[in-house]
Amino acid sequence: MKFLADHMFGKLAKELRMLGYDTLYYRGESGYPFIKLAREEDRVILTRNSKLLPRKPEDRIVRITEDKLSLQLRELILKGYVSLNEQKLYSRCLLCNAPLDQISRDEAEGKVPDFIFYQHKEFSRCPQCLKIYWPGSHLDHMKIKMKELFG
Ligand SMILES: [Zn+2]
Repeated sequence: MKFLADHMFGKLAKELRMLGYDTLYYRGESGYPFIKLAREEDRVILTRNSKLLPRKPEDRIVRITEDKLSLQLRELILKGYVSLNEQKLYSRCLLCNAPLDQISRDEAEGKVPDFIFYQHKEFSRCPQCLKIYWPGSHLDHMKIKMKELFG
């Protein structure tokens, strides 16, 4: 499942990336180019725009009705679009959507704060923006949050 989020859903897009879903965030208007992109890349559209209607059988448009981020995520879970896969948590860059590369501990040295470097063994890096990620406490928070959401 891949997503294309419209300009209303920047935060939701990040949250989906955190869960490991390939999610593009579209800053333009949700007109024809928007639908075309979703078709070309086989993405499910996330929008609030009630005028945006499927025109071809392959168009998949999910209308998000909730305002709060956690409820929006829950809405996608209840509708069956999103599920929890712990293996995929934090496998993508939250900023670029690119799949992260595992890097050796040596490669992370000097590029992350020292206390982080000494506390962690595993690091990964975004091939696009070169941001380095590590499984920090935010991952545990995320797991707890996900367990609540996914029941
Ligand atoms: Zn990145």
